[in-house]
Amino acid sequence: MSETITITVETTASHEAIDITDEIVAAVGSGVRGLALVHTQHTTIALVIGPSDEGMLEDFVRVGERLLAESGPFVHLEHDNANGEAHVMSAIGGTRLLLPVDADGLRLGTWQRILLLEFDGPRSRKVDIDVYGGGLGAT
Ligand code: ZN
Repeated sequence: MSETITITVETTASHEAIDITDEIVAAVGSGVRGLALVHTQHTTIALVIGPSDEGMLEDFVRVGERLLAESGPFVHLEHDNANGEAHVMSAIGGTRLLLPVDADGLRLGTWQRILLLEFDGPRSRKVDIDVYGGGLGAT
């Protein structure tokens, strides 16, 4: 396994979808065949795969906000700022992705981008990338 690489993402709104694909691709690099684990230790963001045109990023936020509006009020008040809705959205979206890595780098479909969904911003967010691989040609 290679060394863990951590990237920092500064979110700018309370609810936001940000394309972090380029940073993840750069962190994974190339020349290794294996798996990339993209993981965050935060409990109020999600990491998902999806298209990242401007309308789609807005749609992710709009659908999330609609789910939240229909689900409240939330009763979680402990240890931070009454952000139960953000914890629920993080759990639904997930906090990790496991992706294949080829000799050329991260293998993603034409429309697949790695998106960070913020539900309790703006904040400074960290995402860890670990690559597990045995070198080119390993099985
Ligand atoms: Zn909380």
